[in-house]
Amino acid sequence: MSKARLATEIIEPELETMRLAALASTGILDTAPESCYDAITHLCAVYFKADVVLLGFGDVSRVWVKSYVGHEIHEIPRRNSLFEMVLAADGPVVVSDVSALPHAQRLLVQSRRPDIVFFASAPVRSSEGCILGSLSIFCSDPYLSKNPDQISMLENLANMVASQLELRRIQNSLSQQSAREPRPSLTLSSQSQIWPRAQDLRRALEQRQFVLYYQPEVELATRKIIGLEALIRWNHPQRGLIPPMDFIPLAEESGLILPIGDWGLSEACSQIQHWCRQDSRSTTLRVCVNLSARQFSREGLADHVEALLLQTGLSSRQLGLEMTESSLIPNVKTALHVLGSLRRLGVSLLMDDFGTGYSSLNHLHSFPFDVLKIDRSFVGRITESEQSLQIVRTIIELARVLGMDVVAEGIETVEQYEVLLKLGCRFGQGFLFARPMTAEAVTELLTLPERILPEPRN
Ligand code: C2E
Ligand code: MG
Ligand code: MG
Repeated sequence: MSKARLATEIIEPELETMRLAALASTGILDTAPESCYDAITHLCAVYFKADVVLLGFGDVSRVWVKSYVGHEIHEIPRRNSLFEMVLAADGPVVVSDVSALPHAQRLLVQSRRPDIVFFASAPVRSSEGCILGSLSIFCSDPYLSKNPDQISMLENLANMVASQLELRRIQNSLSQQSAREPRPSLTLSSQSQIWPRAQDLRRALEQRQFVLYYQPEVELATRKIIGLEALIRWNHPQRGLIPPMDFIPLAEESGLILPIGDWGLSEACSQIQHWCRQDSRSTTLRVCVNLSARQFSREGLADHVEALLLQTGLSSRQLGLEMTESSLIPNVKTALHVLGSLRRLGVSLLMDDFGTGYSSLNHLHSFPFDVLKIDRSFVGRITESEQSLQIVRTIIELARVLGMDVVAEGIETVEQYEVLLKLGCRFGQGFLFARPMTAEAVTELLTLPERILPEPRN
């Protein structure tokens, strides 16, 4: 465990100037307290059994609290806080008896909550490494002193705050840039050259050119197939198989995603029904279908899914619905309502591409998801980037605390597979095990003894 470091109230002036400039560039101090950080502080309270949790950013004279649990504090004069200790330390700070600190008398937390004995804090740094603020926990029970591993969880959560801030900084600078350089509007002639057009999609739907491919999801420890993800392709008569990212955005924009999505859902349900008829073991498989934003702004989605389940005689356990956080944001109120109805039906709800949305953590609490799918950008770097490794570790830990399952997406190498197993990730999918394949190829795969995929090799 890192020992409590001595408070140093002298910070090098150049470093402090750099730090304040980095803090200003995030814009965090110009905004009102934001609920998007509450999920992190609440998670800390639950995970560490902390009495008080504070996420604060320190300027010249004050620590501005952006989120708190346990005690309402909006700002603390810097000299009455423990921020100097965080600045002086080169990592997390752990104090097992706050009252023994030389300046304990003037600490705001101490004066409001004299029962607090234990303090731990991890810095929130900018991409240049400057300490902008800290994520701190205060406990009346010193139990954490006996459990040093948990401090790395605090560091991981502070790093997640830092990533969210960095993303916001990039988004701010991009939106300022695009406001300065407006894109030329499309002329009619250039529009007509864009392919595909909505009418091409409409025709594809009429001519039944869409197909579903399926990628197996496995239990990592056993490599047993536990489910499949349905992934749409457009089988174009001249252009061949077209991947979803080349037509789903247009389908969304034109509204055609509704009939295409309805087709996908009913096709997947009929396919499961078919597999179950062939082999009763298939009743334990869960087939997951991706949904996009437009499908959520429709109130009737849950009724539609219920009707499909009745029609095909499937149990709701056999169907999963995947959605990204960004698809829920445009209309959070409707999404919450629709998700609640789907949840009551009993279908699984999976948050796709988790970790890429900039307020991911915020929505974990409010949306009723059963499964987090770790975005493949983290899995792909897990063996090369310490940061990706830590993010994946934290997501797995968060899911455990929240009682959710985790699926790692995009596993491509044996090394990534081994790391995920060590981290305790239960489920996964990726080219290492199986690529997305036709329904016929899946039928073949399902005849494997015990449905266990062979040991993968690079
Ligand atoms: P997603 O839901 O995150 O699906 C996973 C994507 O990762 C798939 O791409 C899959 O082929 C790919 N993938 C799986 N394992 C690996 C791997 O090991 N390495 C790499 N590099 N990639 C891997 P795909 O099929 O091109 O789909 C892309 C996205 O299109 C999906 O991302 C999903 O957001 C969307 N999509 C697919 N089908 C549908 C659909 O029926 N409806 C809607 N609304 N969206 C869909
Ligand atoms: Mg998906
Ligand atoms: Mg995904």
